[in-house]
Amino acid sequence: MRGSSPRMTGKNRRSTPYITEMRPQDILMPVAAGLCCKPGGFHIDPVRPVERAVITHGHSDHARPGHGAVLATQETLDMMRLRYGDNFARSTQALAYGEKIKLGDVTIKFHPAGHVLGSAQIAVSCEGTCIVASGDYKDAPDPTCAPFEMVPCDVFITEATFGLPVFRHGNAADEIKKLLASVALFPERSHLVGAYSLGKAQRVIALIREAGYDAPIYLHGAMEKITRYYESRGVALGDLRMVKGMKKADLAGTITLAPPSATSDIWTRRFPDPVTAFASGWMRVRARARQRGVELPLVISDHADWDGLTATIDATGAGEVWVTHGQEDALVHWCTAKGLTARPLDLVGYGDEDESDPMPAGEDTEA
Ligand SMILES: [Zn+2]
Repeated sequence: MRGSSPRMTGKNRRSTPYITEMRPQDILMPVAAGLCCKPGGFHIDPVRPVERAVITHGHSDHARPGHGAVLATQETLDMMRLRYGDNFARSTQALAYGEKIKLGDVTIKFHPAGHVLGSAQIAVSCEGTCIVASGDYKDAPDPTCAPFEMVPCDVFITEATFGLPVFRHGNAADEIKKLLASVALFPERSHLVGAYSLGKAQRVIALIREAGYDAPIYLHGAMEKITRYYESRGVALGDLRMVKGMKKADLAGTITLAPPSATSDIWTRRFPDPVTAFASGWMRVRARARQRGVELPLVISDHADWDGLTATIDATGAGEVWVTHGQEDALVHWCTAKGLTARPLDLVGYGDEDESDPMPAGEDTEA
């Protein structure tokens, strides 16, 4: 940890001459298992089994099985149950957005992170200091989850997946137009869209529906459970069907969503002359698209881009920024140039769901 941090001048400052504020690093500290809150007796998104875990969202690099008690939104708990089975933790407790709970000497509150269904920023307050651990987040609109909420704080912990000025995601609706134009242009071909199973796939489907496409959309079997779960939480996705059992000829002119790994294996032989698309923020990088053999790159990300990251940091009013998982250096530099205290957190174990697409156990059956 770096030495003492300067006192905050942010709008959240609530100190009086009689109360000693805690230093942020006394409240949250990076350890091998993840971000540890000693005064609260818990870890945030721990990568190793711990007694008490508070979890930001359901992606497998943040939500792991084997903890004692888990506190998360109902959606995140449900997704963990779907993925890992009923015994993924010894006990669970759901906390809704806006609800407060006292854990040890700290108070925590969840706020929407706009990343995937149920994703939460965790505001940890202790003796006049508020730290927001945002997990993964995006400030772009997403019809499948609650929009990102700006939370004023003293210390903002930000991801940096796309923390380089070269990353500007643009408008996701325009990418969907490209996909639908290709479908119209090649009625004899099928379109296979690689998208991460939790969040991205459902967002792509919802965007396709918003664009006015109402034909059936086909799903790889690995996406069924989580997509049906989204529907059960009130996210309307239209007519969805499984690819399994479909005749090859009947898939001409259709759109199928599949995990990214499936779009490059022999599973694709069941499709007539497939156009391979991939929905990811990484598709901004042409070399990545070429490497993956992607014919139709779609720049659609569930993470904030450079403008989103910097605008969000600005808006929180935080005087101190901790940067984690991704391209930390440029963002730390940007913060420092603005006169903010900033440092990389050097947490390990958080990957990028867009890149690695581990098939959840029991969901990888060929379909
Ligand atoms: Zn995530």
